[in-house]
Amino acid sequence: MAPTVVILGGAYGGLHVAHYLLKYNGEARIILVSKSSHFFWNLASVRAIVPGSVQDEQMFVPLAEAFSRYPGNRIEVIIGSAEAVDTTAMTVKVAVPGAAERTLAYDHLVLATGSRTTPSKQPSSADELSLVMPWKADGTYEEIVDLLHATQDKVEAAKCIAVAGGGSTGVAVAAELGYAFGGKSIEDGGKEIILLSSGEVLGGDIVASSARNELKKLHVDVRTTGAVTAARRKSDGRTELTVDGATEPVVVDLYLAATGVTPNTDYLNAKLLNAKRLVEVDEFYRVKGVPSNNVWAVGDVVSKPRAAYFITTKQAAGAAKNIDLVLQGKQPVSVTGTDLDIFAVATGPSRGVGRFGSWRLPSLAVWLAKGRTLGMQRASSYLDGSVA
Ligand SMILES: Cc1cc2nc3c(=O)[nH]c(=O)nc-3n(C[C@H](O)[C@H](O)[C@H](O)COP(=O)(O)OP(=O)(O)OC[C@H]3O[C@@H](n4cnc5c(N)ncnc54)[C@H](O)[C@@H]3O)c2cc1C
Repeated sequence: MAPTVVILGGAYGGLHVAHYLLKYNGEARIILVSKSSHFFWNLASVRAIVPGSVQDEQMFVPLAEAFSRYPGNRIEVIIGSAEAVDTTAMTVKVAVPGAAERTLAYDHLVLATGSRTTPSKQPSSADELSLVMPWKADGTYEEIVDLLHATQDKVEAAKCIAVAGGGSTGVAVAAELGYAFGGKSIEDGGKEIILLSSGEVLGGDIVASSARNELKKLHVDVRTTGAVTAARRKSDGRTELTVDGATEPVVVDLYLAATGVTPNTDYLNAKLLNAKRLVEVDEFYRVKGVPSNNVWAVGDVVSKPRAAYFITTKQAAGAAKNIDLVLQGKQPVSVTGTDLDIFAVATGPSRGVGRFGSWRLPSLAVWLAKGRTLGMQRASSYLDGSVA
């Protein structure tokens, strides 16, 4: 019987592994489990919140279409949520909305369930805000699209917007908003944009001062006094933020949190997770602590050396090749090229800051490689399979 490879997660990592095995391994049957029926090009979400800037079709790839080129007996896509993995019985329990729970048996399992945006704070009272942001795919396709559209509407209506988080997402979001609305009068559609960071932006990276200069040119008010510790909805609909180190609360029409990500590993046994709830892998990208050596992990569930799209791509290519080798009775090979030290942040659609190792990259290079399109032209490679 053909071996079954179950892949959990339908994004950069999961789709890449699936396409590779379907193209290059002649026999494996693939079952891909995804919460959403569409792959979300989340790298462009920082721009997509600006109304009219990005079309939905540029960011979403329907999974059914992506796999329609392969024989039906080689691939099954299940729109559902992995709830539990038993690495001894080699099964995965999957909750399928509106249908009975499925138990999938696997010969190899790939964990590619990524991460979700971290709410800056759990609400402790009714008037505190529960923040769900559209930076990552978290939920069904309909839920992600609705959230994105609702955020666009709020941006449209707001006159003053605070972005919390001085990391690359917060800087990129503030820059996109500054580019679209900064430096104009309210009558001309202008908005006040504030970036709140608990310390120097971009964690004090060598390109932090360049990022600050770019934000200044875009009329973003950067405040690095401290973290947002509370967000409360006022009776007039505005939001009051308590900021560490600030003498007075910051009151805005819209609060956007960009305060990090949390790995989607809740369905895994704690013994497979480290203290950060990430999955530990060996040099072949096999999950450590599984004696049968048939569970693999790529992308943000691993976050090694950090959570990044281009690192996920390298890991997915390496793990997919290794699964193919093992299925052919061969030894896996060490996965290389995942430790490239490239850092680039788009500061709006026309500029960027970045470095390669300790070499600063010119704004034009970051714009060409990233800021111009935020990589959206590459989404089609997950549709036609050319990514693998
Ligand atoms: C705003 C933003 C911008 C970014 N820009 C860049 C950039 O420019 N360059 C760069 O290198 N990196 C960037 N990143 C990082 C990049 O997005 C991640 O590294 C990448 O998304 C990781 O891909 P992944 O396949 O591991 O998982 P994800 O993209 O997180 O996708 C995981 C998928 O699994 C699904 N899933 C989750 N749980 C389950 C479950 N239990 N069962 C079934 N399915 C499940 C999710 O719904 C999702 O579809 C950015 C991140 C953010 C937040």
